[in-house]
Amino acid sequence: MPPEAGPAAWNSILPARIPNPALSEHLDADYLVIGAGFAGLAAARRLTQLQLDARVVVLEGREVATGPAGRNSGFMIDLPHELTSDDYAGESAENDRRQTAMNRAAIEFAKTTAVDFAMPKEALIVSGKINAAATAKGLKHNADYAEHLSRLGEAFKLLGASEMQALTGSEYYQGGLWTPGTAMLQPALYIRGLADGLQQQDGIKLYEQSPVISLDKNTSGWFVKTPTGSLQVGKVIIAVNGLIEHFGFYSRRLMHLVLYASMTRALTAAEIEKLGGETRWGFTPADPLGTTVRRISGTGGDRIIIRNCATYDPSMTSSNGRMRSIAQTHSDSFKARFPMLGDVEMEHCWDGRLCLSLNNVFALGKLDEGLYSACCQNGLGTAKGTVSGIIAAEQAAGSTETLMPEYQPEALPKKLPPEPLMWLGANSVMKWKEFRAGKEF
Ligand SMILES: Cc1cc2nc3c(=O)[nH]c(=O)nc-3n(C[C@H](O)[C@H](O)[C@H](O)COP(=O)(O)OP(=O)(O)OC[C@H]3O[C@@H](n4cnc5c(N)ncnc54)[C@H](O)[C@@H]3O)c2cc1C
Repeated sequence: MPPEAGPAAWNSILPARIPNPALSEHLDADYLVIGAGFAGLAAARRLTQLQLDARVVVLEGREVATGPAGRNSGFMIDLPHELTSDDYAGESAENDRRQTAMNRAAIEFAKTTAVDFAMPKEALIVSGKINAAATAKGLKHNADYAEHLSRLGEAFKLLGASEMQALTGSEYYQGGLWTPGTAMLQPALYIRGLADGLQQQDGIKLYEQSPVISLDKNTSGWFVKTPTGSLQVGKVIIAVNGLIEHFGFYSRRLMHLVLYASMTRALTAAEIEKLGGETRWGFTPADPLGTTVRRISGTGGDRIIIRNCATYDPSMTSSNGRMRSIAQTHSDSFKARFPMLGDVEMEHCWDGRLCLSLNNVFALGKLDEGLYSACCQNGLGTAKGTVSGIIAAEQAAGSTETLMPEYQPEALPKKLPPEPLMWLGANSVMKWKEFRAGKEF
């Protein structure tokens, strides 16, 4: 498992949690889920919903909520980032509709789970999100997106510069486009709540610091080893996103991006007063390569989170030099937006893995007898991870009942061009687009 740089800040600002012990014995189970992120935990919950008495084990290689699940920006988004169709009776419009319906089913699943497991309110709040525009180009992008939304019959509201300032306290933005369906997560709180609830209420067993190091088929199913234990299971769901390549599947078909984010220290009462605006909001950038910004208020205080920069990196690791340079970029993006908070420094800067495919499809479904994948979430991984976990669980359980009636089996992720062509191409395009994003960055 590749090392991650910096802390999973969402987890770090919560009270310390005692992790579950590592697997240190031999167990027999009906199902094993590998990975306790959005996909793995959704799969485990769906399995226990479908088969009440199933023996389900989850193995997490690290500690719960310290991987990408505790490193993202916490937007659980219903609508695709890009609504590109010019023809709203056509196939791509149908894809947008299906994807939106599945994302919404995932958000419903998460909402119900948050209630069932008595999670604190701040774990998941459906408040919508804003596509924020800092430039004329951003405003044009929002206007185009709004037109697509109208044709799809989706609700939205366009905000002017003064409304954006009233919301954020910042004069940086010229406008915004609010859509109501996004759930804003405290992702580590949600993932912890899901992991704990699954054990306490659904009776699953979860082991942490238990990376799966081998997976062998035999006549009774699969024999699985971790560094200190083993399992004999009937069926396995691999929910490790891009790391499924380490299991020998989808080789050279998955794009490994590394994304970066920073979080301020908790603001003081005087700083909160100086900033003004509302205490909770979330902006995705009108330009896809721009800066995502969130203001949060809750456990861990009032803070601002900045996310920008992406690198294509098959090694999935970031050097210290790169982290220093990105921390500076984040600090500059923050100061440009919040000059009144000039003295506020970033407390945490971190990286995290993201997995995409060239043709924007999941790496999802049956891999072998009793072996299923719930990987490659592309963008929107909190929602789509949940979607893929649910689908893989339903397939593994052989269920005819589904929460995802809109799902249609997809093509395999497309083969990537050879290296170093892919590396050069992907990184140059992203750098160029970041440059072109101008003030949206
Ligand atoms: C900075 C950043 C910001 C982001 N912002 C957003 C956002 O706002 N909204 C959004 O929807 N998405 C966002 N994402 C993407 C999102 O975090 C991921 O798509 C999502 O976490 C994928 O979920 P998953 O369950 O598939 O995989 P993961 O969350 O990666 O979970 C997989 C788990 O498997 C474990 N694992 C791996 N190998 C093994 C093994 N051999 N044995 C046992 N366990 C193993 C890992 O430790 C990990 O915990 C962001 C990502 C980053 C990095």
